[in-house]
Amino acid sequence: MTTPRLLLRTATFADGSTGDVRIVDGLITELGPNLAPLDDRTSDRTGDQGETVVDLDGRLLLPALTEPHSHLDKAFLADVISNPTGDLMGAIEAMLAHRHLITLEHTIERAERAARLMLSNGVTAIRTHADTTLENGRENGLQSVHALIEVRERLRGLVDIQVCALSGWPSIGVAGAEQRALLRDAVSAGVDLIGGCPHLEPDAAAANEGFLSIAADAGLPIDLHTDETLDPAVLSLEDLARRVISSGFPYAVTASHCVSLGVQTERRQREVAELVATAGISVVALPHTNLFLQGRQRQSTMPRALTALRALSAAGVNVAAGADNMQDPFNPVGRGDPLETAALMIVAGHLLPDEAFETVSRRSRTVLRLASNELAVGGVADLVAIRAPSIRAAIAMGPGSRVVVKSGRIVAGDPTWR
Ligand SMILES: [Zn+2]
Repeated sequence: MTTPRLLLRTATFADGSTGDVRIVDGLITELGPNLAPLDDRTSDRTGDQGETVVDLDGRLLLPALTEPHSHLDKAFLADVISNPTGDLMGAIEAMLAHRHLITLEHTIERAERAARLMLSNGVTAIRTHADTTLENGRENGLQSVHALIEVRERLRGLVDIQVCALSGWPSIGVAGAEQRALLRDAVSAGVDLIGGCPHLEPDAAAANEGFLSIAADAGLPIDLHTDETLDPAVLSLEDLARRVISSGFPYAVTASHCVSLGVQTERRQREVAELVATAGISVVALPHTNLFLQGRQRQSTMPRALTALRALSAAGVNVAAGADNMQDPFNPVGRGDPLETAALMIVAGHLLPDEAFETVSRRSRTVLRLASNELAVGGVADLVAIRAPSIRAAIAMGPGSRVVVKSGRIVAGDPTWR
């Protein structure tokens, strides 16, 4: 069996320098100017040196992008289910009222279409939440779980997809017994993470405890929709951090949204951020959907509804950014392009371009606990080549026709296109 080898020539790197990149067996093995194709060498012949040589014609070569928070099961529903009020509860109620219109086959088709769109934009890893809600005539049981696991398997080798069971509520107490049983069924069906919305439960602290317990029993990491509200009195992130620290929860913990942390005093932000850092919790900011859904009742000093990016980063928390919803009742726009998210992190989150890029690449990949794909020897060869002179320009222009490399194979884009 031959070893897959790829030589990417005439790449431009983020620092403006140019050179070539050799990839063997899915890993970067060599970087430098004017690398000779293996067939031209005499000292390195092993009999399986067949190497694909691709000229990038000066394209900017970057680590591939990661989408750390999506809802592939809802993608492209915007023209089927509208959200007339444009807020979070309006979106939730619209989904409830129209759930009967959604079939397993339709969910698979839309989810795969969304994932392939992301792939064409340079995304090689996606975490998606899957509605996991009691059927009771209007909710979907394990339909989304089955659909997204099917898409995960179809795209294996092209995109690494993690499926997170997103619990309905309540999931606690006597009333939540059936919901907890459904989550355990999702575990048996093969989900990769446990998730839920503690801030929508009757008791957020009890919900944090419940989700950590189910995840610990299942041996899975956890990713919670946390404090997706501008109400400063709701701050379950602090409770989550304390529980993770005190219990020594052994798997990765992600808190998504954390909107209400952004409306605390700077002192409270620092206090909570320190706890989150100590707990090793990653935070995912979701500017698209939070900018769309939050703060509609205020027409004066309208809030941006982003988490406390500066305090979290200063405390050493891994802060990433995702798109959340794409063209559905929660967000009617979105192109499946993390560079669009990065642009929002610049204008709404006040990050500078290089840092914004990190939130949709290295830091998002850290959320998913995947091996580094930095452009260095030993890095996983998940890469994207873009027609842009710099990271800033790539975010600003969002050029199409990207060349995408997954595990050392070109999986999207045509490098011969000029
Ligand atoms: Zn979400």
